[in-house]
Amino acid sequence: MARFSGKKNNGFEVGWQMVPVNGQKEVELLAGSGLTVVDGGAHLKIIELRETTRGGSRASTRKFTIKGLKKGKAVIWAKNRSKISAQVTIQVIPQRIVAIAFNYVSDSAGNKTKRSPKTANFLLRKLNNIYLPQANVNFQIVAARKLKINATLGKVVIRDLKKPSKDQFSVLIANRFPKAQVNVFFVWECQKAGKAHDTDGVAEIAVSRNEKTNCMVEDNLGASFERVVAHEVGHNLGLKDDYSIPDLLMYGQSGKIVGTRLRKSEIERIWAG
Ligand SMILES: [Zn+2]
Repeated sequence: MARFSGKKNNGFEVGWQMVPVNGQKEVELLAGSGLTVVDGGAHLKIIELRETTRGGSRASTRKFTIKGLKKGKAVIWAKNRSKISAQVTIQVIPQRIVAIAFNYVSDSAGNKTKRSPKTANFLLRKLNNIYLPQANVNFQIVAARKLKINATLGKVVIRDLKKPSKDQFSVLIANRFPKAQVNVFFVWECQKAGKAHDTDGVAEIAVSRNEKTNCMVEDNLGASFERVVAHEVGHNLGLKDDYSIPDLLMYGQSGKIVGTRLRKSEIERIWAG
């Protein structure tokens, strides 16, 4: 059976591939020798790579470069005469630039994060390594600053939605860097009110695409720092926890964030939200 295949963590899900406007992706057609490959419109251009031809006859795995020309959706078919043997939907999407601010928090009682603005560029690269190839999201730093809060936040910075007077996350949010769409606050410890202390981060979930959102991430993590930040920022882009598969970025078990993969539905959410 012929089928299209794409690279993992590169905006591919079975039968679907994200391609950036003015960018390109590679897909493979497995068991595709002898099939005629046709595209379905002006949104893209497909180019078959020459090295897939061996000894004058076509190899069964064929490689194609797909160039995104303009925003929209198109289907590529692999046909045996008029019969469709395989197909892949190509979603051509423009780049979304997200202005991000990294705030390294301390309070008036001497509590402070161990993290430093010096690592901001490294963190930015890690975020873009996850989001750019999969969702065509490009984070840009608009601030990487030490942020001294003129209050005592205590040993643990609490998110308490039920008692606004006790909610310390809102104290951080009041000090957000206004020009950034996403503000990340690095704190020593944080958790949601009433929960056992197993929280790596706390984030707001964006409801609309243009919403300004915030998250906080603590020093003591049970998982990779960059992935926790990427996960919380995912909430800030409107994504929810997903407990189904551990290789997902939004796999939601605290302390067990292991993956970096975004699903098609998540990429569409970020793009369209
Ligand atoms: Zn989460």
